[in-house]
Amino acid sequence: MKLKESKLLSSIKGVTHGFSDKYLGDNASQIGHLLNLSKVTLLKQIHSDNVVFVDDIATETARLEGDAIVTHLKGCGIAVATADCVPILLASNDARMVAAVHSGWRGTLNEIVVNTVSAVKDRYGIEPENLKAAIGPCIASCCYEVGEEVGSLFSGKYPDTSEYLFEKGQDKYILDLKTANELLLKREGVSDIEVLDICTKCSENYYSYRGDGNGAGRQLSVIGLRQ
Ligand SMILES: [Zn+2]
Repeated sequence: MKLKESKLLSSIKGVTHGFSDKYLGDNASQIGHLLNLSKVTLLKQIHSDNVVFVDDIATETARLEGDAIVTHLKGCGIAVATADCVPILLASNDARMVAAVHSGWRGTLNEIVVNTVSAVKDRYGIEPENLKAAIGPCIASCCYEVGEEVGSLFSGKYPDTSEYLFEKGQDKYILDLKTANELLLKREGVSDIEVLDICTKCSENYYSYRGDGNGAGRQLSVIGLRQ
C-alpha cells in the first residue's frame, strides 16, 4: 500500500507527507506508521475558516474544531479528511512548520487557505513565498456542477471568476475548486504550488461524496515534520 506524494513537498528535507486513497482510507494510525510519525491528529471539521495550532503532542484527535491544522512539533502528524473537498498541505522551506487545510466550496468561499497562510505568518514570522503547497485529490472541474445558489455566492463576492466558475446554462455552473484555491494561494504570495491531477469522482481509487453519496468514506491528507 502506497500513499500518493507531491514531488514539491517531498523536496523539503525534514517533511514527510502522503495522500491516502480508499484502500488506506482514514486509518490514521496505519498512515502515521507508514510515514514514521508517532501520531496523527485530526480536527472536527466544520466547514469553517478556523485555523487550529497543535502545540502539544498529547492533543486528542477531533477535540479541536476547525478546518486548518498547523504544527511545528516534530513527529506529530496532522491531517484533514476529505471525500470531494480540496485537501491542501503546506510546509515551510526550512521545515519549521506544516499545515493541512480542508477546503470545500464553503471553505474556499471563506478563504480558509488564506487564513492559514496569514496565521502562519503571524505565529512563526514565515513569509508566504517561503511556503510550498500541494493541492491533493479532490473533485475536479470535470465532475463538479453546482447550482445558482452556490455559483452566485462566488460571482457576488469576486469581480472576476472567469478562471474557475463556468456557466453551463439552466442555472448550472462548473466550479473548479482546485484552481480557485490555487489562485487564493497565489494572491497571498505562495507561488510554489503543485496540483495533483486526480479527480475523486472519476477515479475508482478514491472516495467521492458526489459518487458514493452520504455514506461515502474519507481519505486522509497527512503531513508532519520528521523526528
Ligand atoms: Zn472527474
